[in-house]
Amino acid sequence: MGSIAEKASGSEVLERLRKSLSPRWDEYVALVSYRVDKDPFAVLVSIVLSQNTNDKNSIKAYLKLRENVGVSVNDIMEASENSIIESIKIAGLARQKARTLKELAKAVHSWGGPDYLLREDPSILRKKLIGIPGVGPKTADVFLSLVRKARGVFAVDTHAARIAKRWGLVGEKAGYDEVSQSLIRFFGDENNEEAHRLLIALGRKYCAARRPRCVECPLKDICPSARQQ
Ligand code: SF4
Repeated sequence: MGSIAEKASGSEVLERLRKSLSPRWDEYVALVSYRVDKDPFAVLVSIVLSQNTNDKNSIKAYLKLRENVGVSVNDIMEASENSIIESIKIAGLARQKARTLKELAKAVHSWGGPDYLLREDPSILRKKLIGIPGVGPKTADVFLSLVRKARGVFAVDTHAARIAKRWGLVGEKAGYDEVSQSLIRFFGDENNEEAHRLLIALGRKYCAARRPRCVECPLKDICPSARQQ
């Protein structure tokens, strides 16, 4: 299988995606928290809630947690684990996520509070975030690209991983870092956050895991995995 890069540059692909997909901010939990609460810690909370579930459920869980418990460092530190679990049930893995939120709040408090998340060097912050149990590279990279506009990161969720493989940018067995670096090389470092969101939108609308709708896809003439029907 060839690569989409043989037929089009990353900026051409980005332009096509921009024209054919118009994702709304309220379809992404991290953008909802970013706009509604303007608190970097709250954005991290929302990204943790989105692990292993869709944005629809994580937005519901985030809004319920916000209403019942609150989403600041102090709110999460002071809340009982059970009250968090009760609020975020709809996002699944509630016990595990509640524990992660507690660990996250404890860590951010020990670093001096939410402003630290805006001040620290992104690569140091990434290492520290990934060191918290339950926080993986995707959570850190969504945060760093959205809130810190950091370079050298590309958040890889299931859509991005599947699409990078279908585009032939990486092999089937590529892990997180390999996919992430290949997408940075293809799209350019300055477009990481927008490209991440557009890949999710492409995955939702056309490039589904099962039965991708290649015939209607805006990339069907350049994608090496395009099916004819
Ligand atoms: S042509 Fe098919 S496989 Fe390629 S990106 Fe579009 S939907 Fe996915």
